[in-house]
Amino acid sequence: MRTFRCQCGRKLFFGSTRCVACDATVAMCPCCRNVAAMAPQKDGSWKCTAAGCGHVLKMCQNRVDHEVCNRGVEIEEEDQPRCTYCRLNRVIPDLKVPGNLEKWRRLETAKRRVLDGIELIGLPIGTPSQNELLPLWFEFKADDVQPVSTGHANGVITINVKEADSVHREQTRVEFGEPQRTLVGHFRHELGHYYWDLIVKPKLLSEFRDLFGNEEDPTYAEAQQAYYKDGPQPDWQQQFISGYATMHPWEDFAESFAAYLDMTAIVITAQSFPRIEAEVPADDFDKWLQTYREIGVMANEFNRDIGLLDLVPEVFTQPVVEKLRFMASLGHPSKLARPAHVR
Ligand SMILES: [Zn+2]
Ligand SMILES: [Zn+2]
Ligand SMILES: [Zn+2]
Ligand SMILES: [Zn+2]
Repeated sequence: MRTFRCQCGRKLFFGSTRCVACDATVAMCPCCRNVAAMAPQKDGSWKCTAAGCGHVLKMCQNRVDHEVCNRGVEIEEEDQPRCTYCRLNRVIPDLKVPGNLEKWRRLETAKRRVLDGIELIGLPIGTPSQNELLPLWFEFKADDVQPVSTGHANGVITINVKEADSVHREQTRVEFGEPQRTLVGHFRHELGHYYWDLIVKPKLLSEFRDLFGNEEDPTYAEAQQAYYKDGPQPDWQQQFISGYATMHPWEDFAESFAAYLDMTAIVITAQSFPRIEAEVPADDFDKWLQTYREIGVMANEFNRDIGLLDLVPEVFTQPVVEKLRFMASLGHPSKLARPAHVR
Protein backbone atom coordinates (compact mmCIF):
# COMPACT_ATOMS: atom_id res chain seq x y z
CA MET A 1 0.00 0.00 0.00
CA ARG A 2 1.21 3.50 -0.76
CA THR A 3 1.94 5.62 2.31
CA PHE A 4 0.80 9.19 2.88
CA ARG A 5 1.97 12.41 4.56
CA CYS A 6 0.30 14.38 7.30
CA GLN A 7 0.20 18.19 7.09
CA CYS A 8 2.98 18.09 9.73
CA GLY A 9 5.18 15.92 7.52
CA ARG A 10 4.80 12.66 9.45
CA LYS A 11 4.10 9.45 7.53
CA LEU A 12 0.49 8.26 7.58
CA PHE A 13 -0.69 4.76 6.73
CA PHE A 14 -3.76 3.41 4.98
CA GLY A 15 -5.41 2.53 8.30
CA SER A 16 -4.44 5.72 10.18
CA THR A 17 -7.12 7.56 12.14
CA ARG A 18 -4.88 10.00 14.00
CA CYS A 19 -1.42 11.49 13.45
CA VAL A 20 0.95 10.28 16.17
CA ALA A 21 3.05 13.45 15.79
CA CYS A 22 0.55 16.35 15.64
CA ASP A 23 -2.57 14.53 16.92
CA ALA A 24 -4.65 15.62 13.91
CA THR A 25 -7.74 13.59 13.07
CA VAL A 26 -6.93 11.54 9.99
CA ALA A 27 -9.22 9.94 7.41
CA MET A 28 -9.16 8.48 3.90
CA CYS A 29 -10.57 11.12 1.57
CA PRO A 30 -12.82 9.57 -1.10
CA CYS A 31 -12.22 12.57 -3.41
CA CYS A 32 -8.42 12.71 -3.64
CA ARG A 33 -7.95 9.11 -2.38
CA ASN A 34 -5.35 10.18 0.15
CA VAL A 35 -5.16 9.42 3.82
CA ALA A 36 -4.82 12.95 5.17
CA ALA A 37 -5.26 15.17 8.22
CA MET A 38 -8.81 16.54 8.41
CA ALA A 39 -9.33 20.12 9.56
CA PRO A 40 -12.42 20.47 11.77
CA GLN A 41 -15.04 22.95 10.50
CA LYS A 42 -17.49 24.99 12.61
CA ASP A 43 -20.49 22.99 11.42
CA GLY A 44 -18.96 19.67 12.52
CA SER A 45 -17.75 18.70 9.05
CA TRP A 46 -14.10 18.14 8.08
CA LYS A 47 -11.90 19.58 5.36
CA CYS A 48 -9.29 17.43 3.64
CA THR A 49 -5.83 19.02 3.97
CA ALA A 50 -4.16 16.94 1.21
CA ALA A 51 -2.44 19.18 -1.33
CA GLY A 52 -4.85 20.35 -4.03
CA CYS A 53 -7.94 18.74 -2.45
CA GLY A 54 -9.82 20.76 0.17
CA HIS A 55 -13.02 18.72 -0.14
CA VAL A 56 -15.43 18.91 2.77
CA LEU A 57 -16.34 15.57 4.30
CA LYS A 58 -18.11 13.94 7.18
CA MET A 59 -16.81 10.86 8.95
CA CYS A 60 -18.33 7.49 8.13
CA GLN A 61 -21.00 6.61 10.69
CA ASN A 62 -19.28 3.25 11.27
CA ARG A 63 -16.31 5.25 12.56
CA VAL A 64 -18.46 7.52 14.72
CA ASP A 65 -20.37 4.60 16.25
CA HIS A 66 -17.85 1.74 16.27
CA GLU A 67 -14.41 2.96 15.09
CA VAL A 68 -14.32 0.28 12.39
CA CYS A 69 -13.75 2.59 9.39
CA ASN A 70 -11.50 5.52 8.48
CA ARG A 71 -13.10 6.66 5.23
CA GLY A 72 -14.81 10.00 4.80
CA VAL A 73 -18.17 10.60 3.11
CA GLU A 74 -18.65 13.45 0.63
CA ILE A 75 -20.77 16.14 2.25
CA GLU A 76 -23.04 16.33 -0.83
CA GLU A 77 -24.20 12.82 -0.04
CA GLU A 78 -26.58 14.16 2.59
CA ASP A 79 -28.70 11.05 2.91
CA GLN A 80 -25.68 8.74 3.23
CA PRO A 81 -24.33 8.32 6.75
CA ARG A 82 -21.81 5.66 5.68
CA CYS A 83 -18.89 5.62 3.26
CA THR A 84 -19.07 3.97 -0.14
CA TYR A 85 -17.40 0.80 1.18
CA CYS A 86 -19.45 0.45 4.37
CA ARG A 87 -22.62 0.86 2.30
CA LEU A 88 -21.81 -2.47 0.67
CA ASN A 89 -22.44 -4.31 3.97
CA ARG A 90 -25.72 -6.16 4.08
CA VAL A 91 -25.03 -8.18 7.24
CA ILE A 92 -22.51 -7.20 9.92
CA PRO A 93 -21.46 -9.35 12.90
CA ASP A 94 -23.76 -9.41 15.91
CA LEU A 95 -22.13 -6.78 18.13
CA LYS A 96 -23.81 -8.16 21.25
CA VAL A 97 -21.46 -11.17 21.02
CA PRO A 98 -18.22 -10.48 22.93
CA GLY A 99 -15.24 -10.21 20.58
CA ASN A 100 -17.30 -9.54 17.47
CA LEU A 101 -16.56 -5.81 17.36
CA GLU A 102 -12.83 -6.57 17.10
CA LYS A 103 -13.48 -9.23 14.46
CA TRP A 104 -15.62 -6.81 12.47
CA ARG A 105 -12.84 -4.22 12.67
CA ARG A 106 -10.37 -6.72 11.21
CA LEU A 107 -12.84 -7.63 8.46
CA GLU A 108 -13.38 -3.96 7.53
CA THR A 109 -9.65 -3.23 7.55
CA ALA A 110 -9.01 -6.08 5.12
CA LYS A 111 -12.06 -5.18 3.00
CA ARG A 112 -11.03 -1.51 2.65
CA ARG A 113 -7.51 -2.47 1.63
CA VAL A 114 -8.73 -4.91 -1.00
CA LEU A 115 -11.44 -2.60 -2.42
CA ASP A 116 -8.90 0.21 -2.67
CA GLY A 117 -6.68 -2.16 -4.67
CA ILE A 118 -9.66 -3.00 -6.91
CA GLU A 119 -10.25 0.70 -7.60
CA LEU A 120 -6.54 1.24 -8.25
CA ILE A 121 -6.64 -1.24 -11.12
CA GLY A 122 -9.76 0.45 -12.47
CA LEU A 123 -12.41 -2.22 -11.94
CA PRO A 124 -15.99 -1.06 -11.33
CA ILE A 125 -17.87 -1.84 -8.11
CA GLY A 126 -21.57 -2.44 -8.73
CA THR A 127 -24.08 -0.65 -6.52
CA PRO A 128 -27.90 -0.82 -6.57
CA SER A 129 -28.08 2.70 -8.09
CA GLN A 130 -26.28 1.66 -11.28
CA ASN A 131 -28.67 -0.90 -12.68
CA GLU A 132 -26.34 -2.06 -15.45
CA LEU A 133 -23.85 -3.58 -12.95
CA LEU A 134 -24.44 -6.51 -10.64
CA PRO A 135 -24.47 -4.92 -7.14
CA LEU A 136 -21.75 -6.09 -4.77
CA TRP A 137 -22.74 -6.94 -1.19
CA PHE A 138 -20.91 -8.22 1.84
CA GLU A 139 -22.40 -10.44 4.53
CA PHE A 140 -20.35 -11.16 7.64
CA LYS A 141 -22.13 -14.05 9.32
CA ALA A 142 -21.50 -16.44 12.19
CA ASP A 143 -22.39 -20.15 12.27
CA ASP A 144 -25.90 -20.66 13.59
CA VAL A 145 -28.10 -23.73 13.24
CA GLN A 146 -26.67 -23.84 9.71
CA PRO A 147 -22.89 -23.47 9.31
CA VAL A 148 -21.88 -20.45 7.21
CA SER A 149 -19.59 -21.01 4.23
CA THR A 150 -17.31 -18.26 3.01
CA GLY A 151 -18.14 -17.77 -0.66
CA HIS A 152 -19.72 -15.73 -3.43
CA ALA A 153 -23.13 -16.02 -5.10
CA ASN A 154 -24.74 -13.46 -7.44
CA GLY A 155 -22.76 -10.50 -6.17
CA VAL A 156 -23.05 -11.41 -2.48
CA ILE A 157 -19.76 -12.19 -0.73
CA THR A 158 -20.28 -14.06 2.52
CA ILE A 159 -17.43 -14.29 5.00
CA ASN A 160 -17.71 -16.45 8.10
CA VAL A 161 -16.91 -14.15 11.05
CA LYS A 162 -14.67 -16.83 12.58
CA GLU A 163 -12.19 -16.22 9.74
CA ALA A 164 -11.35 -13.03 11.66
CA ASP A 165 -10.24 -15.22 14.58
CA SER A 166 -6.54 -15.86 13.98
CA VAL A 167 -6.45 -19.13 15.95
CA HIS A 168 -9.29 -20.64 13.92
CA ARG A 169 -7.78 -19.35 10.69
CA GLU A 170 -4.38 -20.85 11.42
CA GLN A 171 -5.91 -24.24 12.29
CA THR A 172 -7.85 -24.23 9.03
CA ARG A 173 -4.78 -23.13 7.11
CA VAL A 174 -2.77 -26.12 8.38
CA GLU A 175 -5.71 -28.50 7.87
CA PHE A 176 -6.06 -27.51 4.20
CA GLY A 177 -2.30 -27.24 3.60
CA GLU A 178 -2.48 -23.62 2.44
CA PRO A 179 0.71 -21.53 2.44
CA GLN A 180 -1.29 -18.50 3.59
CA ARG A 181 -4.83 -17.95 4.75
CA THR A 182 -5.67 -14.34 5.47
CA LEU A 183 -8.73 -12.11 5.47
CA VAL A 184 -7.21 -10.06 2.68
CA GLY A 185 -6.77 -13.29 0.72
CA HIS A 186 -10.41 -14.30 1.28
CA PHE A 187 -11.70 -10.96 0.01
CA ARG A 188 -9.45 -11.08 -3.06
CA HIS A 189 -10.48 -14.64 -3.91
CA GLU A 190 -14.22 -14.03 -3.51
CA LEU A 191 -14.00 -10.80 -5.49
CA GLY A 192 -12.46 -12.92 -8.26
CA HIS A 193 -15.76 -14.82 -8.46
CA TYR A 194 -17.67 -11.52 -8.50
CA TYR A 195 -15.61 -10.12 -11.39
CA TRP A 196 -16.01 -13.38 -13.28
CA ASP A 197 -19.78 -12.83 -13.16
CA LEU A 198 -19.48 -9.12 -13.83
CA ILE A 199 -16.94 -8.99 -16.65
CA VAL A 200 -15.76 -12.40 -17.85
CA LYS A 201 -19.07 -14.23 -18.25
CA PRO A 202 -20.77 -11.54 -20.37
CA LYS A 203 -17.77 -10.34 -22.40
CA LEU A 204 -14.77 -12.68 -22.30
CA LEU A 205 -16.15 -16.20 -22.06
CA SER A 206 -14.32 -17.74 -25.02
CA GLU A 207 -10.97 -16.17 -23.99
CA PHE A 208 -11.59 -17.46 -20.47
CA ARG A 209 -12.32 -21.01 -21.69
CA ASP A 210 -9.16 -21.06 -23.81
CA LEU A 211 -7.05 -20.37 -20.72
CA PHE A 212 -8.95 -21.92 -17.83
CA GLY A 213 -11.12 -24.61 -19.45
CA ASN A 214 -14.86 -25.10 -19.81
CA GLU A 215 -16.66 -24.18 -16.61
CA GLU A 216 -19.73 -26.23 -17.62
CA ASP A 217 -17.90 -29.52 -18.04
CA PRO A 218 -17.45 -30.84 -15.43
CA THR A 219 -20.12 -28.96 -13.48
CA TYR A 220 -19.01 -27.16 -10.36
CA ALA A 221 -20.75 -29.71 -8.12
CA GLU A 222 -19.01 -32.63 -9.86
CA ALA A 223 -15.64 -30.89 -9.70
CA GLN A 224 -16.07 -30.08 -6.03
CA GLN A 225 -16.97 -33.65 -5.17
CA ALA A 226 -13.94 -34.99 -7.03
CA TYR A 227 -11.64 -32.44 -5.36
CA TYR A 228 -12.75 -33.27 -1.84
CA LYS A 229 -12.38 -37.00 -2.61
CA ASP A 230 -9.00 -36.97 -4.41
CA GLY A 231 -7.40 -33.60 -3.57
CA PRO A 232 -5.54 -31.43 -6.06
CA GLN A 233 -3.95 -32.81 -9.20
CA PRO A 234 -0.49 -34.10 -8.20
CA ASP A 235 1.46 -32.01 -10.73
CA TRP A 236 -0.59 -28.85 -10.21
CA GLN A 237 2.48 -26.57 -9.96
CA GLN A 238 2.99 -27.04 -13.71
CA GLN A 239 -0.21 -25.22 -14.65
CA PHE A 240 -1.88 -23.71 -11.59
CA ILE A 241 -1.13 -21.02 -9.03
CA SER A 242 -2.39 -23.22 -6.17
CA GLY A 243 -3.70 -26.69 -5.46
CA TYR A 244 -7.21 -25.32 -4.90
CA ALA A 245 -7.16 -23.74 -8.36
CA THR A 246 -7.23 -27.25 -9.88
CA MET A 247 -10.75 -27.85 -8.58
CA HIS A 248 -12.68 -26.03 -11.30
CA PRO A 249 -12.06 -23.21 -13.82
CA TRP A 250 -13.96 -20.78 -11.55
CA GLU A 251 -11.62 -21.50 -8.64
CA ASP A 252 -8.63 -21.27 -10.95
CA PHE A 253 -9.83 -17.83 -12.04
CA ALA A 254 -10.48 -16.67 -8.44
CA GLU A 255 -7.07 -17.91 -7.25
CA SER A 256 -5.31 -16.24 -10.18
CA PHE A 257 -7.28 -13.02 -9.63
CA ALA A 258 -6.25 -12.96 -5.95
CA ALA A 259 -2.60 -13.57 -6.89
CA TYR A 260 -2.76 -10.70 -9.38
CA LEU A 261 -4.12 -8.35 -6.68
CA ASP A 262 -1.33 -9.50 -4.33
CA MET A 263 1.19 -8.68 -7.03
CA THR A 264 -0.14 -5.21 -7.83
CA ALA A 265 -0.38 -4.32 -4.13
CA ILE A 266 3.22 -5.36 -3.45
CA VAL A 267 4.65 -3.55 -6.46
CA ILE A 268 2.69 -0.36 -5.67
CA THR A 269 4.07 -0.50 -2.12
CA ALA A 270 7.63 -0.92 -3.43
CA GLN A 271 7.13 2.09 -5.69
CA SER A 272 6.09 4.29 -2.79
CA PHE A 273 9.32 3.66 -0.86
CA PRO A 274 12.73 5.06 -1.76
CA ARG A 275 15.53 2.55 -2.12
CA ILE A 276 16.96 1.88 1.32
CA GLU A 277 20.69 2.42 1.78
CA ALA A 278 21.63 -0.57 3.95
CA GLU A 279 25.40 -0.02 3.81
CA VAL A 280 25.92 1.17 7.39
CA PRO A 281 29.21 1.76 9.28
CA ALA A 282 29.66 -1.14 11.70
CA ASP A 283 29.85 0.94 14.87
CA ASP A 284 27.18 3.52 14.01
CA PHE A 285 24.35 2.21 16.20
CA ASP A 286 21.98 5.08 15.45
CA LYS A 287 22.32 4.50 11.72
CA TRP A 288 21.70 0.77 12.17
CA LEU A 289 18.53 1.52 14.11
CA GLN A 290 17.36 4.10 11.59
CA THR A 291 17.93 1.62 8.75
CA TYR A 292 16.06 -1.08 10.64
CA ARG A 293 13.15 1.31 11.19
CA GLU A 294 13.03 2.21 7.50
CA ILE A 295 13.12 -1.43 6.47
CA GLY A 296 10.52 -2.22 9.14
CA VAL A 297 8.05 0.38 7.86
CA MET A 298 8.40 -0.97 4.33
CA ALA A 299 8.31 -4.64 5.32
CA ASN A 300 5.23 -4.02 7.47
CA GLU A 301 3.46 -2.50 4.46
CA PHE A 302 4.37 -5.55 2.35
CA ASN A 303 2.99 -7.84 5.04
CA ARG A 304 -0.19 -5.79 5.39
CA ASP A 305 -0.66 -5.96 1.60
CA ILE A 306 -0.96 -9.73 1.93
CA GLY A 307 -2.74 -9.67 5.29
CA LEU A 308 0.16 -11.02 7.36
CA LEU A 309 1.29 -9.75 10.75
CA ASP A 310 3.77 -6.87 10.89
CA LEU A 311 7.39 -7.93 10.46
CA VAL A 312 8.60 -5.22 12.88
CA PRO A 313 5.75 -4.48 15.30
CA GLU A 314 7.95 -2.87 17.97
CA VAL A 315 7.95 0.83 18.77
CA PHE A 316 11.42 2.13 19.63
CA THR A 317 10.92 4.68 22.39
CA GLN A 318 13.99 6.38 23.85
CA PRO A 319 14.30 4.03 26.89
CA VAL A 320 14.12 1.04 24.51
CA VAL A 321 16.70 2.64 22.20
CA GLU A 322 19.11 3.01 25.13
CA LYS A 323 18.70 -0.67 26.05
CA LEU A 324 19.44 -1.67 22.46
CA ARG A 325 22.43 0.66 22.41
CA PHE A 326 23.71 -1.27 25.43
CA MET A 327 23.37 -4.48 23.37
CA ALA A 328 25.42 -2.86 20.60
CA SER A 329 28.15 -2.16 23.15
CA LEU A 330 28.36 -5.92 23.78
CA GLY A 331 28.97 -6.66 20.13
CA HIS A 332 28.05 -5.31 16.73
CA PRO A 333 28.20 -6.70 13.19
CA SER A 334 31.56 -5.90 11.66
CA LYS A 335 32.87 -6.12 8.12
CA LEU A 336 35.05 -9.08 9.12
CA ALA A 337 32.03 -11.03 10.30
CA ARG A 338 30.47 -10.81 6.85
CA PRO A 339 30.66 -13.73 4.43
CA ALA A 340 32.98 -13.03 1.51
CA HIS A 341 30.27 -12.99 -1.17
CA VAL A 342 28.54 -9.86 0.17
CA ARG A 343 31.70 -7.88 0.73
ZN1 LIG B 1 0.56 15.22 11.76
ZN1 LIG C 1 -8.90 14.91 -0.19
ZN1 LIG D 1 -17.05 3.40 6.26
ZN1 LIG E 1 -13.77 -19.80 -4.66
